[in-house]
Amino acid sequence: LILINRKKYDIIIVGAGIAGLSTAYAASIAGFKTAVIDLNDPGSGASGTPMALLNPATGRKAKKTWKAEKCLNYTKQLLSSASNYTREKIYIENGVIRPALNPEIAEQMFDTFKNSTWEEGWVKWLDDGEISSGFPGLKGNGGGLWIPKGITVNMKGFIRALTQYLESRGVRFYLNTQYEKKSTTSYQINSPSELLESGLIIHCTGMGMTTDPTWNSLPLHRVKGQTLTIELSSTPKFKSSVSSIGYIAQSTINRNSIVLGSTYEHHFNHLEPDSDGAAYLINRMGKTMPEIHQNIITHTGWSGVRVTVPDKKPVAGGHPEFDNLYTLCALGSKGLMLGPILGKLLIDQIKGIGAVPELFSIRRLLGET
Ligand SMILES: Cc1cc2nc3c(=O)[nH]c(=O)nc-3n(C[C@H](O)[C@H](O)[C@H](O)COP(=O)(O)OP(=O)(O)OC[C@H]3O[C@@H](n4cnc5c(N)ncnc54)[C@H](O)[C@@H]3O)c2cc1C
Repeated sequence: LILINRKKYDIIIVGAGIAGLSTAYAASIAGFKTAVIDLNDPGSGASGTPMALLNPATGRKAKKTWKAEKCLNYTKQLLSSASNYTREKIYIENGVIRPALNPEIAEQMFDTFKNSTWEEGWVKWLDDGEISSGFPGLKGNGGGLWIPKGITVNMKGFIRALTQYLESRGVRFYLNTQYEKKSTTSYQINSPSELLESGLIIHCTGMGMTTDPTWNSLPLHRVKGQTLTIELSSTPKFKSSVSSIGYIAQSTINRNSIVLGSTYEHHFNHLEPDSDGAAYLINRMGKTMPEIHQNIITHTGWSGVRVTVPDKKPVAGGHPEFDNLYTLCALGSKGLMLGPILGKLLIDQIKGIGAVPELFSIRRLLGET
């Protein structure tokens, strides 16, 4: 006779990356009894990139992202709460400089900047002279956008600290765990006797979403990227991080180290970092910061896969067929800007006190809007 140990939760979240943990944060604040399941450790997917930028101006033209000031401030709240649960430095408010890649793009970026409304003190246009005096060694190429509010995040440290913080709030984690879906509302964990039940399941499995038949109707696309953590023979000449095609992030851990990162491979046949990826990143960096080339002692690689949809906007909402099933996924390259706020909006929607904007809905992708 096997005694089944049933555990009831208001919400079970599957996936402990930035999407799942942000949703768990909002769920716990809303008073829901919450569990998080992951096949691996938290941050073992795309969210485990060594350093990442919380950057409110992205893309080729450094366009202002959706409700940028509000989103960045909300993520900052999470960073600040999580930082009380670690001795590691998990973020630095060092600003982001976004030099243009060539004069033509500089013109487009300048137009975009002029035509968008930013709160006072959020961005400033710099000409080539201002870039070279403020950021020695960086190529301007016709100007660039200075984003003093940009933040550099030690993602592994952040995810670890956020997990601890959530545990302290009563969120229960089932990690490194195999599970079996018993019904649309229950999961059997590891031992045959433990059954987790909930009337509400939220899938935040990142790349896992692309192979889950439940979500076949979503046009999800995987993009692989790599990072290189580089040890330098001398300290970089300025403290801000750089966003260009990909980024050069200052390290929160070691002032003589930087992290180069980019997601760009739409077709790939393995998931590991490789020498082609390293060469690509170093070559890219050389175009933005030519001198640093001579300064590299060693580098180590990491790779990850982010998920996106054709309009490149995240997806948050209820499954088109199953009432009790939701997702937050496809955060693309804006995991830090949009993951936390969308976790909150999804929980507000579930509580009936708000709604995920149509822009991020599942319905828009199914041609129903
Ligand atoms: C190289 C690189 C650089 C990046 N740089 C930035 C940046 O500078 N700024 C930024 O904002 N974003 C950046 N991103 C994007 C960002 O990392 C992603 O948008 C974000 O991490 C996605 O989070 P997620 O929680 O949706 O997915 P993930 O972090 O991939 O999390 C998914 C989780 O689900 C788990 N899982 C998967 N399948 C299952 C399953 N079947 N059952 C249980 N658990 C499962 C995984 O183990 C994992 O923990 C970068 C991405 C890469 C790859």
